[in-house]
Amino acid sequence: MIVDSGVAIALTVFALVVPLRGSKEALNQLLDRTIPDEVQMRFLSVVTKNHTNICEFKAIHTRQSGKDIFIELDIILPFDESMEYKDKLEKKISKEIIDINSNAVPRVYAKACDGKCLDNNKRNCPIHIFRSLNE
Ligand SMILES: [Zn+2]
Repeated sequence: MIVDSGVAIALTVFALVVPLRGSKEALNQLLDRTIPDEVQMRFLSVVTKNHTNICEFKAIHTRQSGKDIFIELDIILPFDESMEYKDKLEKKISKEIIDINSNAVPRVYAKACDGKCLDNNKRNCPIHIFRSLNE
């Protein structure tokens, strides 16, 4: 078979580029891979859903490894909130994240607020405000 030089060059380039691209994708899968915004937004919908249960949404970090999507969600709760509430809420939000995507591996971290919301002994933590509205 006679291959003209143009085709030969194209074949060489193809042979070089394709394995490179393949290994780059393999590498991205193993290491850090930013998940699409759309997927991230879907995970963030749990924050919207729980906005009256938390003081503040702090950060979301997502990382994909193979088919697992690791999600770290940082939220703020009143500094004197009970451990029971914290535990329950972390579990509830984790479950809601898995309900969105069964490949999700969530870690929800509730951190204490800085207490600056305490003003003349009146509680101004967003949660306390929501609770007083519901009383
Ligand atoms: Zn607070």
